[in-house]
Amino acid sequence: MTKKKDAHAKTFPSAEGETPTVTVSPRGAARLRAGHVWVYRSDLAKDADAPAGSLVHVRDERGRRIGSALYSSASQIAIRMISAEEIADADLPSLIAERIESAVAFRQQVARDTGSYRVIFSESDWLPGLIVDKYNDVLSLQILTQAFDRDDLRQAVTDSLSRHFPEASILERVDTRIRELEQLPARESQLLLGDRSGTIFTVNGVRFHYDGLSGQKTGAFLDQRENYATAASWAHGEALDCFTYQGGFALHLARVCDKVTALDISRAALEVAEQNETLNKAEHRCGEIEWIEANAFDLLKDYATAGRQYDTIVLDPPAFAKTKRVVPTALKGYKELNLRALKMLRPGGTLVTCSCSFHVSEAEFVEMLGSAAADAGRRVRVLEKRGAAADHPELLNVPETAYLKCIICRAT
Ligand code: SAH
Repeated sequence: MTKKKDAHAKTFPSAEGETPTVTVSPRGAARLRAGHVWVYRSDLAKDADAPAGSLVHVRDERGRRIGSALYSSASQIAIRMISAEEIADADLPSLIAERIESAVAFRQQVARDTGSYRVIFSESDWLPGLIVDKYNDVLSLQILTQAFDRDDLRQAVTDSLSRHFPEASILERVDTRIRELEQLPARESQLLLGDRSGTIFTVNGVRFHYDGLSGQKTGAFLDQRENYATAASWAHGEALDCFTYQGGFALHLARVCDKVTALDISRAALEVAEQNETLNKAEHRCGEIEWIEANAFDLLKDYATAGRQYDTIVLDPPAFAKTKRVVPTALKGYKELNLRALKMLRPGGTLVTCSCSFHVSEAEFVEMLGSAAADAGRRVRVLEKRGAAADHPELLNVPETAYLKCIICRAT
């Protein structure tokens, strides 16, 4: 029999009572003591002999206790800290329930005026490897690690979520690539609880379709929720939304602008965008939007050549820098877009420009924008430097939790 690469082939939890110990190198220990929660496999002092997805105790090379972590036998991120104490595997379900309770309580403070928000944001909620988004009455769960794929921990998560949101259906969205990387057996996206996998949800009074199980991922980029409202508060006149997806910014702008043009390279995304427009028009909350299927780089070039001008332009491209190595190329891409947009802005026009590349820092992004403004010969005032909505909090010392930049500026 060939040995199948399957993390579940090993059993967990480990033998009764015995919690495996993982020893981290001085560099790994320093990283944890500085407040990060990950240790890469290359920073383990010796290869850990822990079962996939198990709870491990973490020690430095001198045997000093650092706490407890969730272990992955496959990922480059070998451990993710879950507690500063040495706890037992059997304590995990109740710890998870407590953490979910506090994540929910936090959202009641920061996402009070919406029924759609990120309920659990992995490391930022001390639940590393778990993401839960709430779209009205549907909860969408994503499991990113071996540990949260364990049956007992899945159960703890769904029990707890259904206690806090008794009316909600819960579905799991599977990212095949992540399961492969974690060497977890293949799994389909599916309903875990209840019978609704789709719904209509409202963000800042704008309505959107959500379907968690269709081929095309629908649902919003909830991290932009507050930025949509802020962008609309600065927007006016004729607007262009360049990477509209299902119309997130465009539908917000259509409430305040005279005319909105929105483009995306994906026809499937634009089809949902149009359905979203219909939803909002029915309630007279939406002006006319022209949807265009195009490559933003090409279209901006054509429009610039044709001398088109706008009062408001939104740039919210996909992450150009997926790794550190490609940051210089990504910055060139951002600059090309921002330069063209700035050239097309009428005097007094507003540019809303975003980057969700974690590897591009805010400082680099602002420097790129400055250089684009100089090349465009425009004087540009920064109105707001923003990040993700408060339900996607950045955890200090874990820079990976801060990835979204949204700069709103005005060109004279
Ligand atoms: N602004 C959107 C999210 C954008 S996600 C919102 O708030 O909901 C990035 C989008 O860019 C995706 O919909 C993707 O289809 C689109 N895209 C990627 N490359 C593109 C290109 N070269 N030109 C136009 N759209 C592109």
